[in-house]
Amino acid sequence: MKVHNFSAGPSILPEEVMQQAAKAVLNLNETGLSILEISHRSPEFLAILAEAKSLVLELLDLPQNEYKVLFLQGGASMEFLRIPMNLMQKGGKAAYLNTGTWADNAVKEAKAFGEVIEVASSKDMHYSYIPKAYTIPDDADYFHCTSNNTIYGTQMRSFPETAIPFVCDMSSDIFSRKLDFSQFDLIYAGAQKNIGPAGTTLIVIRERILGNPKNGLPNIMNYQMHIERESMYNTPAVFAIYTSMLTLRWIKKAGGIAAMEARNNKKAALLYEEIDHNPLFEGTAAKEDRSLMNVTFRLKDANHTEAFDTLCKTYHISGLKGHRTVGGYRASLYNALPVESVQMLIEVMQQFQRSHS
Ligand SMILES: *Cc1c(COP(=O)(O)O)cnc(C)c1O
Repeated sequence: MKVHNFSAGPSILPEEVMQQAAKAVLNLNETGLSILEISHRSPEFLAILAEAKSLVLELLDLPQNEYKVLFLQGGASMEFLRIPMNLMQKGGKAAYLNTGTWADNAVKEAKAFGEVIEVASSKDMHYSYIPKAYTIPDDADYFHCTSNNTIYGTQMRSFPETAIPFVCDMSSDIFSRKLDFSQFDLIYAGAQKNIGPAGTTLIVIRERILGNPKNGLPNIMNYQMHIERESMYNTPAVFAIYTSMLTLRWIKKAGGIAAMEARNNKKAALLYEEIDHNPLFEGTAAKEDRSLMNVTFRLKDANHTEAFDTLCKTYHISGLKGHRTVGGYRASLYNALPVESVQMLIEVMQQFQRSHS
């Protein structure tokens, strides 16, 4: 049975990656050992980690001598803490753009370490748009934003210019579209949306922004320690990193980020077109800020919910429920989601319209 998986995270992975990962669970590269039982210091895993790091920089088109790649644990939420702990100076301040629940959580965590300037926020409008006019104070220690708001379905189309270190949470749209990634000094992303299974977070840092090591920083929170120990300060998430590496290979083989972007544009255009033309549905995000990754929409008449949900189930459409804090629907169109799944969802929406209007 083919299930159309629109889950926001953990989410769909390429079929090919899943098969390779399944095989490696039984026997990794004919070693007679499972990926679940090999040492993280074995030559096999060291090669996997090295390939994953090098694919990240190659796909993002970032220079090896400037950027370091880490695969750590604790989720993107742990980076909400590590970032201020490493980048905020004593008695310092940081600038944040508040565009959603995750951005808001990042703000809250940073407040424990210094002053936080919210340069702009769309909280008053249920985060339905991306604020555009704001000033980033040039005496802040860094600027933080969220490129794609997974819960609200908005995405930054352009990024501000700033002379201070630029930090971006790309958990739900990394590797989905071409950007000049060198405008960022620290990019991070929980793997479970567009890279791999839950359990590891990708962090890409321009090393020179770290400066001198901070006194009293616990090792596990210290980016410099993780760079020095090459993501092996403690046991890394071996299986999650392996599977992420397989996805990175898959992206490269498919034509890199440009190929992902072309397909993602097509999927999003098809679905937004249906949302805008089907009289029973409406989008929830400002049109100019609509996300290509997480498409949020709702039924105009909430009384239709049960019937639509039932129809979705009949056609094996899974993971369409909106985030528990906002309701409605959210179709996550990550890299691995085939166009056919979007076409199936559109057919179901059209069939629903024919039977309900
Ligand atoms: C899911 C998500 C997070 C939180 O990720 P965890 O790995 O669960 O901590 C943070 N930021 C964004 C943009 C997300 O989509």
